[in-house]
Amino acid sequence: MPSRYLFHLWRRVTRPPDRLSVERRRSFEIMAEIYLLALCLQIFIAPVLYLLGYSVMGHLNLVCVLAYAVALRLHRHLWVALALGVKLGAFLLLLIYGALVLGSDSGVVYCLLFAEVELMLADLRRRTKLLLTAGLATLALGLADLPRLNSPPLGFEAHLLENFVLVAVFVMLCMVILRMLTITDRHEYRYRRDAMHDSLTLVLNRRAIFDKASAYWRQQTAFAMILVDADHFKEINDNFGHTAGDAVLHHLAGVLRDALRGEDDVGRVGGEEFLLLLPETSISEAVTVSERIRVRLARRPCQFGGQLMPVTLSMGIACADEGDKLQSIIELADRRLYAAKSAGRNQVVAEGHVESANSRNAGRLSRGVKDALQSEDG
Ligand code: GH3
Ligand code: MG
Ligand code: MG
Repeated sequence: MPSRYLFHLWRRVTRPPDRLSVERRRSFEIMAEIYLLALCLQIFIAPVLYLLGYSVMGHLNLVCVLAYAVALRLHRHLWVALALGVKLGAFLLLLIYGALVLGSDSGVVYCLLFAEVELMLADLRRRTKLLLTAGLATLALGLADLPRLNSPPLGFEAHLLENFVLVAVFVMLCMVILRMLTITDRHEYRYRRDAMHDSLTLVLNRRAIFDKASAYWRQQTAFAMILVDADHFKEINDNFGHTAGDAVLHHLAGVLRDALRGEDDVGRVGGEEFLLLLPETSISEAVTVSERIRVRLARRPCQFGGQLMPVTLSMGIACADEGDKLQSIIELADRRLYAAKSAGRNQVVAEGHVESANSRNAGRLSRGVKDALQSEDG
């Protein structure tokens, strides 16, 4: 339970504000996590310093804890440069004092590497980063030659502290890099998902579904494609409004997705037009799937604002083995969809195959479709 509470607190503190632009979100999150990780580490180090008798360093350590908390707050208000300044200021104070007490050979100087990592990850201009890097390098050289404050040889506590500091630097660097990879992966996943999906219906967008079809074609995977178009969709918009139309599109996408297998794909290729890709599927299996979709839509019509939104679907089916180019397969499916429309809508047209929701119409419609198919062959 406390771990869940801590996780939520962590997410709340490190989540980028909504007004922050997409390209700055990753750096924001990483820096917020660094401030938080450093704050936790410093809280952990403080009692160790007091226990080993380094009370001044202990006090400075507490100053750091306070400064990091202030930096985190400034960072959340998007004062990113000031936040980094406050954080590094307190950190360098502790570091310089630590180097004076423990001496240049103690390894404290290596903590500057951590400051450099922070600097590189911060949302600052490249020129500023390079200038500050030069400053940090100069400081490192200066600290390396610094005479130690207390001349007597260092005792057991000092060696313990040196080792502790070195281990802490390794732990921090390791944690920061791991968190950076996790955050980067998460952001990449979101960008990729947004770039591939249609935001209204949440199915694949036009580019993604055609890319998938191209991949099947290149890999010579057998597939069937079903081009689906909502009938008289304009009337939905005209009669019930655009928002209702959007709700119907969302509903349609849900019906299509639910009727397919896990390996099948749905994409929105036009306003009220969808493309379904069914790998390793014959034309007769695709006709069965199309029928299933029409039946499910009839059983599960869309409701919006307590009103029923009547909508039917016309579908054109084509298989990969019906053409020598992907483009010709798509055009074939499109012509069959057009045939289904011309023949009265709410039906499926495949190779010499007509399915109608209304069996009374089947004969009449199939004649119309046959004409359309004949013209297609011609
Ligand atoms: P048909 O049976 O011949 O396909 O007729 P239709 O009315 O469905 O086709 P038409 O191409 O005449 O109209 C399509 C309509 O789809 C027009 C357009 O306003 C609507 N539309 C396209 N994209 C969206 C959308 O994202 N949301 C909503 N609500 N409507 C959309
Ligand atoms: Mg339509
Ligand atoms: Mg259309």
